[in-house]
Amino acid sequence: MQIVKTVGEMKSIARAIRSNGENIGFTPTMGCLHAGHMSLVAKSKSECDRSVASIFINPAQFGPTEDLAVYPQSIDQDIALLSEAGVDYLFYPDAAEIYPDGFKTHVEVEGITQFLCGASRPGFFRGVATVVLKLFNIVAPHKAYFGEKDWQQLRVIETLVRDLNLDVEICAAPLIRDEDGLAMSSRNRYLTTRQRQSALKINRALSLARDKIQSGEHRSESIRQLLREFIAEEPETEIDYISICDANNLSEKEIIDGKALIALAVKVGSARLIDNCIVENA
Ligand code: AMP
Repeated sequence: MQIVKTVGEMKSIARAIRSNGENIGFTPTMGCLHAGHMSLVAKSKSECDRSVASIFINPAQFGPTEDLAVYPQSIDQDIALLSEAGVDYLFYPDAAEIYPDGFKTHVEVEGITQFLCGASRPGFFRGVATVVLKLFNIVAPHKAYFGEKDWQQLRVIETLVRDLNLDVEICAAPLIRDEDGLAMSSRNRYLTTRQRQSALKINRALSLARDKIQSGEHRSESIRQLLREFIAEEPETEIDYISICDANNLSEKEIIDGKALIALAVKVGSARLIDNCIVENA
């Protein structure tokens, strides 16, 4: 696997691959890789001639009080995992390469970014949309892979691609969990053993909601209330949001009729964790 540090080199590699008639699969990440990331890489490998992954902890998507300075990193292990998986190129730029002095342009996806994580992390999706558009311009992928773990992010990127007529196919992959049910996340490394126990309540809350809906509860507020109480039983948990919403436009639903997304964001200790599932009310 070749490690590429500069925009110029990555662009010329992408040009060469394309002029060879080969297609490019791209998996953007912030590193500290786990099986969730690797499932995207595996999909790219199986569907594309050449696979590129990126590791870039994007300062533009962190708020001033968030965990940019301590975001976990494991670059040596990441390089080993990606090369074992058969990735052809790792794009691993530093911040000044992506945001040189004088950087002035940002991308704002309106509407769906006002809900869920967009409401509690102002500027987050502006940072995400901006860096993803830049990465697409640099890597020139035919297909790009994103996880359903970050459901809203996936919808934001799909909107960006549609609205700006980008020539890239967005491919979604299912949320991957640890054996104990916790959604895999780089931020799980922040958790102590006790906090991890608390964090397990997040996925259990989703199962509880699913059971209640299947047994006939259709009112979102009563499900939300149940989940609030259920999660609050665990120490060191602080609920950011519990959303029961339309899976496409993310607007809140008062009544669960047909399909809905249940999305949670919960702080456990210092780690802000998210999880989600689709529920269907027959
Ligand atoms: P991140 O490194 O957190 O920015 O994530 C990079 C990509 O990996 C995003 O498309 C995420 O949605 C995806 N991802 C992260 N965790 C998981 C997971 N547990 N299951 C599936 N995809 C994931």
